[in-house]
Amino acid sequence: MKRRKFLTNTGLGFAPIMFPALALAQNQRPRITDIKVHRMRTLGETGMMESAWAPGRAYMRRIGGGTVTEIFTDQGISGIAPGMNVSGINRMKQLLVGQDPFDNESLSHQMRYTNGAASNWRDVACMEIAMWDIVGKVAGQPLYKLWGAQKEKVAAYASMIQLSTPEERAETAVRLKEEGWQGMKIRLHHLEQKEDIRTIELVRNAVGDDFEIMTDANQAQSSGIWQPGIQWDYKRALDTARALNEMDVYWLEEPLRRYDYEGLAELNRQTDISLAGGENNQGIQEFVDIIKRKLYDILQPEILVTEGVQGLRTVAALGLAHHKQVIPHHGGGQLGTIAQLHMIGTWPHCPWVEIMNDPPISPYTNGFAIFENAPEVDAEGFMAMPQGPGLGVNINRELITDSS
Ligand SMILES: [Mg+2]
Repeated sequence: MKRRKFLTNTGLGFAPIMFPALALAQNQRPRITDIKVHRMRTLGETGMMESAWAPGRAYMRRIGGGTVTEIFTDQGISGIAPGMNVSGINRMKQLLVGQDPFDNESLSHQMRYTNGAASNWRDVACMEIAMWDIVGKVAGQPLYKLWGAQKEKVAAYASMIQLSTPEERAETAVRLKEEGWQGMKIRLHHLEQKEDIRTIELVRNAVGDDFEIMTDANQAQSSGIWQPGIQWDYKRALDTARALNEMDVYWLEEPLRRYDYEGLAELNRQTDISLAGGENNQGIQEFVDIIKRKLYDILQPEILVTEGVQGLRTVAALGLAHHKQVIPHHGGGQLGTIAQLHMIGTWPHCPWVEIMNDPPISPYTNGFAIFENAPEVDAEGFMAMPQGPGLGVNINRELITDSS
């Protein structure tokens, strides 16, 4: 049937204005004109904090700040993303200026394999996120709707940053529960294993059974910077996993080094608790390996590490097919988190979003302060999907100090 005839038969031919996609197809397609990275002003300091996984490296936590990438088009619509490396802008411009941001898959493939960006996964992810933001804005839909919505909100878990005394963590847990949070993640970095266990015992006793406790040993950084904290051996991982399981802990994250595939597989065989990991695994093939070897029950890809939007959605499909939960790593606490939030909104096997939140020094609102319309964790512990087009958040442009 000819298209005009079909439209007439269905009655659609009388109102083509109702179909923006048709209008777009007939008009000039958007073309990328420029890429910039904005530096965002900080709005204040909230105090020094040492991350549990990096003892001795306390640094000042700030409200706002950071950088934002923006891709511009010839139709006045732009897309935003986490800040890419400024040194990579010209390389990306050479590839992307003049291109259609709807050609996301094709362009991201080219970025990875022909533009020297294979060694800079983060920059490719930033380009993908910004281009998808443009697509959502052209379509007038939030990305989770565009990709196929599965839920309107997701439970947020408070991901703790610092290593505190067991007593302090128990107090924090009670406070979070009172605020509405449904779960929290606690770092297991005490020199003595018994202090890790005592921490979870006190927290479990303080919050009762109707609150999820996740745990993270951060033992996987064998390929990253030197991590001067406690290094676990297999026995500590095994004993800890078994003790945590007795206290109904949801998962144990990164109990062994990232590429200790034999050890992780054996640990998973010998324990009942869910093992989680994957935040610094690069590329889809590593997740294929993780699944094949049965290393983790819960996959935690990170958008700025694992091949961006395309990569994360592929890992999610792999996880779904293999009965794994896929609960991404936090995404950096600003636009990466927002991009992942939209993906989570389309995944039936992702019941949580990781929100880095260790108040009062490092609440999640620090990072979200660059937005005019930041999502919030509500009184029941949920974060709603942003409803604006694209990523659904706007940066406060008054905070831009300079652009490259
Ligand atoms: Mg982790």
